[in-house]
Amino acid sequence: MHMTKLGECIFLVDVETGGLKNFIASYVLKGKRVAIVETGPTSSVSNLLSALKQLDVKLEDVAYVAVSHIHLDHGGGAGTLIKNLPNAKVVVHQRGAPHLANPEKLWQQSKEVLGSITELYGEPEPVPAERIIAATDGMIFDIGNGVRLKVVETLGHASHHQSYYETLGGGIFPGDAAGIYLKEFDAVVPTTPAPFRLDSALASLDKLISLKPKALYYSHFGEASNPVERLQGYADQLKLWAKIARQGIQRKQSLEAVRERILENDENIRRTAEVLRAHPVLGETVLVNSVQGVMELAERHASLAE
Ligand SMILES: [Zn+2]
Repeated sequence: MHMTKLGECIFLVDVETGGLKNFIASYVLKGKRVAIVETGPTSSVSNLLSALKQLDVKLEDVAYVAVSHIHLDHGGGAGTLIKNLPNAKVVVHQRGAPHLANPEKLWQQSKEVLGSITELYGEPEPVPAERIIAATDGMIFDIGNGVRLKVVETLGHASHHQSYYETLGGGIFPGDAAGIYLKEFDAVVPTTPAPFRLDSALASLDKLISLKPKALYYSHFGEASNPVERLQGYADQLKLWAKIARQGIQRKQSLEAVRERILENDENIRRTAEVLRAHPVLGETVLVNSVQGVMELAERHASLAE
């Protein structure tokens, strides 16, 4: 397992789900106590636990496990993880909370949307309801020594999505609100599965930009430079995708045709297409699910306008 020290108190853990490197990150914040941001899925919780051991984290010192949303690759491991952390509470958006307590429906829906990828992630175990903090925008979680996490509600990718602002270093954990960062290309690719909401996603990006973040810690994957420009770039990229999808719906184009036009017009995708196609998860989630998400959005708008 690979770990990187990013700041005075922040460590990145590559949880290496299914052996895939540089794909899913979990972050460990050390104050007087400890907070974990993003668990990754069930199947790699054992890797995360080994990382905690290597970081000399006492399991009873972990106070919070904060997840951006309940999708399996972000919060799926919460139930399994928390069984090992006697004093920790799981922080999740209030609309996501019931699904962590009772993940059966989430698991069924994930299987429908992601197919065999769900096997790579593993089935989520329930988090006992009394150990869940159903969070709202602006809530602050203090782990001592000046390290605090502030909840920033960032809807769009999902209707129960939140990011976290780390007040000491001024970094943001955007979850899936800022796309997927591919470090080797310094590129960002959209994560806009249905039911994607463009207006909410853009409002969320504005909200993150207004915090003037000094660092951006992607769940997929790692720390990215120039946070403000990058968030602005992602907003422009989402608008471009939405525009291409809108034209595609007007011209009755297929998903493949819309994807081709995105490839022609979005240099982030053009530069990374080969790697995305070859990736066991990103090929499907970016090149199929994300394109589908913006097309469904365009279809919804078109039918509203009729
Ligand atoms: Zn997601």
